[in-house]
Amino acid sequence: MRSTPVPLVDHRARCLSLCLLGVLTTSLQTAPALAEGSSVKTDDPVTLHGLRHTKRGQDVTTKALASANVLLANVGSQYRLTSSWSTKPSLDISSQVPVFMVETYPAARTTPVAVPVGCSCVFVNPGTLSAWIAIQSDGPGRLKLDVPRLLAFMLLHEVGHIAKNSNGMEFENGELSELNVEPSIAKLQEQDADEFATKIVIDAKVKMPPSSISIEANWISAAMVTLSWNMQAHRSIDEFGATAMGKQSVFFDPNFSHPNLDWRILYSNYLIQGTPEAKALLNSFEEARHRGEGHKPLYEHHLDK
Ligand SMILES: [Zn+2]
Repeated sequence: MRSTPVPLVDHRARCLSLCLLGVLTTSLQTAPALAEGSSVKTDDPVTLHGLRHTKRGQDVTTKALASANVLLANVGSQYRLTSSWSTKPSLDISSQVPVFMVETYPAARTTPVAVPVGCSCVFVNPGTLSAWIAIQSDGPGRLKLDVPRLLAFMLLHEVGHIAKNSNGMEFENGELSELNVEPSIAKLQEQDADEFATKIVIDAKVKMPPSSISIEANWISAAMVTLSWNMQAHRSIDEFGATAMGKQSVFFDPNFSHPNLDWRILYSNYLIQGTPEAKALLNSFEEARHRGEGHKPLYEHHLDK
């Protein structure tokens, strides 16, 4: 979601999952030793990765995991998301996926939502998530975003990583490790997780008769539409000219090695909606990025003609 901090664990074998919204901020400062001087519980995946627990965002995440669990149950999935702050995390029960609210030091390279290496659990960083959403959804022309339903989709994506045994993301001393992971592998794992999540939404949204389950799926679907719209508004209004030029800071990750989060949101939205409008938003993004790839001038000059 950047110098693409790709989770790594064991030199390339372990991680690649660039999780939804890998909004990574480049650190200009040295990471402080978060755990220094404190007793780190070795059975606590949060402190083990150099992160801190936070109570921020618990309400939103509680709604999100309830929403995601409705759809997981609908497809007969063995997985259920549980809040680590209201129940004791059961890391030994494979079907339970504890969700931890985490934070790290300012400017750390991080991501809003991730499955860390070595744990079938999910980290949600509410500060990073809020910051990423604010970029897309604050300002003129934007629609109010249903954050719990957007986060529900992200959580389904993370469950997809666990279900498909994708490599987790490596955090070291509170910051995502950066490794040279094969971009094509990372992209495939991200798309796999996106397709896992979208299929669950579609199963409830399209194949179910009207019910509380299909309504939940439609709320998630609507959140994806809203975010896709807001992303387009952000590029058109806040970043005027970026689409024509394929501005790299808008259409690419800082270090190009990661699957692009913005693209994946639009791709997932298209999978869920299957409409010409959703395809147009995706096409617009891809065409602009293509222009940015070639570094071609905005206008071709044919002076010899
Ligand atoms: Zn992911």
